[in-house]
Amino acid sequence: MKRVLVTGAGGFIGHHLVGYLKKKNYWVRGADLKYPEYEPSVADDFALLDLRRWENCLKATDGIDEVYALAADMGGMGFISAHHAEILRNNSLINIHTLDAARENGATRYLYTSSACVYPEYRQTDANVTALKESDAYPAQPQDAYGWEKLVTERLCTHFREDYGLETRIVRFHNIFGPLGTWDGGREKAPAALCRKVSIAKLSGNHEIEIWGDGEQTRSFCYIEDCVDGIYRLMRSDCREPLNLGQDRLVTINELADIVAAVAGIKITRKHVPGPQGVRGRNSDNTRLREVLGWEPRISLEEGFKRTYAWIDSQVRAAQRRGASVTLEKPSIAGRRASAS
Ligand code: NAD
Repeated sequence: MKRVLVTGAGGFIGHHLVGYLKKKNYWVRGADLKYPEYEPSVADDFALLDLRRWENCLKATDGIDEVYALAADMGGMGFISAHHAEILRNNSLINIHTLDAARENGATRYLYTSSACVYPEYRQTDANVTALKESDAYPAQPQDAYGWEKLVTERLCTHFREDYGLETRIVRFHNIFGPLGTWDGGREKAPAALCRKVSIAKLSGNHEIEIWGDGEQTRSFCYIEDCVDGIYRLMRSDCREPLNLGQDRLVTINELADIVAAVAGIKITRKHVPGPQGVRGRNSDNTRLREVLGWEPRISLEEGFKRTYAWIDSQVRAAQRRGASVTLEKPSIAGRRASAS
């Protein structure tokens, strides 16, 4: 039985990936600073470790054949636009140490989770975007310290493969969403924040939703089930170049809010407030994805949001029963923190 490590297994995508790999009969070790927040992990072994530290990375990769590296200090736009030093420092330490420890311990494959944030800001100034293909990452001018760190770690993975023979794979996610992800507290991203706001609006009867900026900024969004399927397919493939993983259906944040409201069965009014919006427009060019994997994401936005809204709505209601006021206050601090990233 192959032994795999999923770092960031206490987080949104890592937790789903552990479940996916268990169903494929792998022996799985999860590693994270914390256990998953919303349900127990099904990992065979779960190590609570701070992966910024070299000795912990050696422990995590001990006896491991393949590594899925997802651990990162990250969040939505509100978080990554305001914590540059922390993000660059923490994520650099995590990634250099995890990759080097995997090599030291003889792992044979290593998948690194990069981001659409590596793409240059100068290609993303218009909401009517040309979809970004992988080669568009250069000449480099990534978004925020978060994007710079991702780009440097991509290079590190490539050089570890060339110089040390460790088979590395690099995936660039485009806005992954789904149940069991952070939906409150400041690190949540736009899809989860919109579901929370709509759920609160429905419960309170006040259907006004706050949106950062004019809401005409565009993105594509990919459902979590497609994401973990794509990660696995990439790990098993021969593709050694970075690969986009996302949907290529472009929507504005205003349209996204309407999709969520339709799922919830209410009509909303949008209140546009100042706040960080990230780049003006971004979409995934899936040409290489289709070519190398013979596959692309399948779950529609409507279906993905049906499932995601149902879960977040249940979380909001449970918080209300507990009397947690932060969740139910009219979109204020918590409501303002998320936008598209
Ligand atoms: P997440 O925040 O839910 O999960 C990241 C996990 O890393 C968290 O559980 C966190 O506790 C853990 N972590 C942070 N610092 C750590 C440390 N020092 N030691 C050990 N664990 C640590 O994020 P996610 O959405 O599941 O993202 C997973 C990966 O995918 C990340 O690398 C992220 O940058 C990348 N990514 C995600 C998206 C997205 O839309 N969710 C988009 C682009 C890239």
